[in-house]
Amino acid sequence: MPVVLPPGAGYLGKSRRRISASGLVTWERCPRQWHYRRRIGLNDAIVPEMIIGLVVEDALCGLYMERFSSDKPTPIVSTWVNHSRQGDGLQKIESSAELQISDIDSINEWLEIVLPTLVGEVQRLLKKKWDESPWKSNQRDISEVDDKRIENLLRGGINLQIEEVQNCFNNEGGPYLDQFRESGDPFTIPAPCWDENPAKPGEYKSRTAGKGFKSGSITAWEAWEIARPWVKDPRILEPQRLFHPDGWAAGELDLVHRWDGTVRICDIKASAGTSGYSVGLVNQLRFYQWLWSITRTHSGRPKGGINGGELSRLEGWYLVGPHRKIVDILDEKTLGEESSKWKNIHQQMTLSGLHPTHMAPADPSPWIKHQPGGKPLAVDDEKAAKKLTCERCTAVAFCDGSPEVIRKIAQSSITPPEMGNFENLVKDLVPKPPCTLISNIPRRLNVKGEIKGHWGPLPNHYGEDVRGATIVVGNTSVVIEEMGADSFGQIPSSGEFAMLDVAPGLWRGMTRLYLDEHSDIRNIGDTPDVEFTRLGLIPTKANLSGQVVSRGRNSGVNSTGKPWAMSTCHLWDGESIVEVVAFGSAINRTFQQIKVGDRVRILSAELGWRDGVPQVRINPRNTRIEVKTA
Ligand code: SF4
Repeated sequence: MPVVLPPGAGYLGKSRRRISASGLVTWERCPRQWHYRRRIGLNDAIVPEMIIGLVVEDALCGLYMERFSSDKPTPIVSTWVNHSRQGDGLQKIESSAELQISDIDSINEWLEIVLPTLVGEVQRLLKKKWDESPWKSNQRDISEVDDKRIENLLRGGINLQIEEVQNCFNNEGGPYLDQFRESGDPFTIPAPCWDENPAKPGEYKSRTAGKGFKSGSITAWEAWEIARPWVKDPRILEPQRLFHPDGWAAGELDLVHRWDGTVRICDIKASAGTSGYSVGLVNQLRFYQWLWSITRTHSGRPKGGINGGELSRLEGWYLVGPHRKIVDILDEKTLGEESSKWKNIHQQMTLSGLHPTHMAPADPSPWIKHQPGGKPLAVDDEKAAKKLTCERCTAVAFCDGSPEVIRKIAQSSITPPEMGNFENLVKDLVPKPPCTLISNIPRRLNVKGEIKGHWGPLPNHYGEDVRGATIVVGNTSVVIEEMGADSFGQIPSSGEFAMLDVAPGLWRGMTRLYLDEHSDIRNIGDTPDVEFTRLGLIPTKANLSGQVVSRGRNSGVNSTGKPWAMSTCHLWDGESIVEVVAFGSAINRTFQQIKVGDRVRILSAELGWRDGVPQVRINPRNTRIEVKTA
């Protein structure tokens, strides 16, 4: 639920530096796994389950945003389906039938009739996402996801919401019936509805009471309106999240129910909750409880409306079943202790990967199976259960903490047959000049000079607002810039200074020095034993070679409305892994066609940084990419 724009809102407000509920859950599964997945962005080959949950959740939230006609029959067409189709330039679906909403059965009937079009749209989006993905599992295909499976998930979400509507109806609309009848949704941040204008984060938009509100006993139409949960509004591009006032944590809620005078935070899961991943739900929801509690008095919250009451419960909505898992909220003292733990985890996260030898510990949690509805089963053999966690890990082939037997299986799966064995592959991957080991990429250095030309915050290439300046010695000047939004803070406006632990790089042909929370600016007199690099000798390029072990892509529209796109691959040189990124026009045919398993040489790539770890970037004019197809 939106509070305000994120501190230093970047491209869609995402930052690998903030701790999120899913990042926390990954860390608790294994800190080293978090390092590989979140810090350096190593992906898994896509399987249908990775996208089904996202699309089904969008479809359900779009359905909860419907408003029925009250005085005439309602056309049977999903507004979300048409919104989604129009976003891809497709024609709207016209309604060929209509239904009068008179009771909860008729709401159910309307939803049941509209369901096939939702299934169709979910399938279209799944196929599109699948086709666009640069790395798919060889053993899986999106065509195996049949309509029945999607229908079952959607019907699970419909049934759970209809339970809310029925309860609301049975309770005469709850304590806010009069406010709804008088002036519509009374909350400070109203529940998005297709018939009402969207409210951006931080914005207050009062509502008008829909025409269907009456007097006397509550109607089913009114119960649907009042029981509508807050969901992420698909019409808004800005991030709709809870941001910690200090910016180091953020969370995106699925549903917030408020009709009964209390607040319930619910998370949708497109499963029955039987897998080991279900273990993360409790902490995920309690992380939201904490973010909710610390943002209620945030000065950036819009004024007006009512707050919706105290948080009473946390719920997991498992769509297969469906099941409603109730998670008790933590008392204030325990929540305080938990949040100190999360702060500490966040500090450990910022250090992981800062130096090549420092990675978060390899410490897998046991894989815990569950009964339907997310009820955990006892673990008899903890060692075997930890092995199951490693077996499912993205990094099992590269992690020295993984059990040897499964590491060897994973390593043989990435070894081309002509190499014979994994040891031969590692030997063959040793870079030959001019390429160097990834671990030899220059990380941090110290410079001194006069700081001039203070600017910012101005957008960097990720669209994040960063501060910058130049450092000058004689005729040589170099740009200094924050690595990401708010990653360093104020830079002195002028004067002679020493800059310690800054990261060297290049962007748009200009040498840059990136500052983050590990960098320091001091008076030159305070650095007697420091070794400095001359500004003219700052390393800015990298020549690397290795085997491609992951592919990814991302695109969207930034907060100024400008589209952006990036394509990534991860290169492994037998020892370390680094992310290689092409932005916008640098995503050429050669880069697009790179596959996992290919051997690649990248010459004269630009050295960049993302949240404290190196990121090698393709310059469309100067970088040479040589690919030996697997
Ligand atoms: S292989 Fe196991 S120990 Fe290593 S990162 Fe993955 S889960 Fe952690």
